[in-house]
Amino acid sequence: MDRRHFLKFSAAGGALLTGCAPFQVKDTKAHVVVIGGGFGGATAAKTLRLLDANLKITLIEPKTQYVTCPGSNWLFAGITNLTQLSVDYRTLQVQYDIDLVTQSVATIERNIRQIRLTNGDSIGYDRLILSPGITFKWDAIAGYSAEIAAIFPHAWQAGLQTRILAQQLQAMPQGGVVLIVAPPDPYRCPPGPYERASMMACWIKQHNPRAKILILDSKRSFSKQRLFEAGWRANYGYGTANSLIEWHSLADNSINELHKASKTVISEFGDRFTGDVLNIIPAQMAANLAMHAGLTNPHGWCDINPLTSQSVEDDCIHVIGDAAQFTPMPKSAFAANSQAKACAMAVFNLIHQQPMSEPHWINTCYSLIAPEQGISVVGVYRLDDEKRRIIAVEGAGGVSHAFEEQISRSEAGYARSVYQNLIKNSFG
Ligand SMILES: Cc1cc2nc3c(=O)[nH]c(=O)nc-3n(C[C@H](O)[C@H](O)[C@H](O)COP(=O)(O)OP(=O)(O)OC[C@H]3O[C@@H](n4cnc5c(N)ncnc54)[C@H](O)[C@@H]3O)c2cc1C
Repeated sequence: MDRRHFLKFSAAGGALLTGCAPFQVKDTKAHVVVIGGGFGGATAAKTLRLLDANLKITLIEPKTQYVTCPGSNWLFAGITNLTQLSVDYRTLQVQYDIDLVTQSVATIERNIRQIRLTNGDSIGYDRLILSPGITFKWDAIAGYSAEIAAIFPHAWQAGLQTRILAQQLQAMPQGGVVLIVAPPDPYRCPPGPYERASMMACWIKQHNPRAKILILDSKRSFSKQRLFEAGWRANYGYGTANSLIEWHSLADNSINELHKASKTVISEFGDRFTGDVLNIIPAQMAANLAMHAGLTNPHGWCDINPLTSQSVEDDCIHVIGDAAQFTPMPKSAFAANSQAKACAMAVFNLIHQQPMSEPHWINTCYSLIAPEQGISVVGVYRLDDEKRRIIAVEGAGGVSHAFEEQISRSEAGYARSVYQNLIKNSFG
């Protein structure tokens, strides 16, 4: 083993020796449990099976149908529906021989490597892959809560709330106002609020042309801003008095209160904004399960060793997807899929006590400005020379060259095919 391989191996192997007891090389029935059947969890389970025909793999997910967040903003322009956005786990079960447990996990009993389900059953594991997604910092906006979100949907976990928000948009009085309260970094899908505004504007342009969308942002700038703004100028009168979209940066003066009865949100310095439709997207953190298991840092995210995606708190647990801190990768389905593949490889190597292979990751995010106009951002990532941090590969990736008719038309087509490929790659 050369020095380079030794360093890579010992970085992971060191962790393996301290906590998670090694498997026998010939132990072909190691049990890997995956929690969360989203893009991260589904891809991890599938990839592990592709790597190892003999592992026992269990996927735990409470929903029988998973509604994808990617594509869910398209619902506001009326170009998709929840059925088209839904996937199930049949292929993973039948074709990839993954045991599916349709339950929620109540607790992870780390000391005995066991999971307790909400129905009281327990499942033991040799290695655990955790991809539970996000939850919201409900206390960030006084007056907003999980219950109130049923009335003023965040629609940041696609499903019923997405449909309710679309219905509210469609029922809005002529000349009405939509307020989108955009969250602080980091959050899932950095371009998401702006794609949403675009898709809503596309709908109101046809059905309610005097209406307006106000984005109240706790950030100074946002993902693909130059391209979004160019697209809004071309389609929605952005920058003019009649613009369908207005973007207001409220950095240092964020929205921190909701007055439900008057449909008003209030900023730290007392600025008030009243709307007919309120889409409040709160600040985010890793899903509750990760916090209750003691796997989160003070900001609410799970720190990991990027070489293996092992939690820094527990060598037997790998955390991927939105819940994990893969900075500078954004929190996206594409990124979760990429992290899941690298994680599956690491789990395979640890189980079989093989040297670690060095992971690389990719992210691609397409956004629609209008049904036939798209923009994109791509990033390629690797480990730094110390194998401790993730860094962007210089010269790889970037954003769409410009918002031009021909390019954006092609990118709208790519957006649809990337979505279909991602679904197939993760769940099919
Ligand atoms: C509006 C919107 C648009 C987006 N568009 C894009 C896009 O175009 N491209 C892109 O790449 N990304 C996009 N994203 C981001 C993408 O949806 C997320 O980054 C991705 O879903 C993260 O995958 P994940 O596996 O980490 O979490 P999730 O997909 O949220 O999956 C987590 C799963 O864990 C399950 N779970 C949670 N707790 C438990 C528990 N206790 N027990 C068992 N299971 C549990 C949940 O039921 C859920 O199914 C978008 C997001 C939004 C909100």
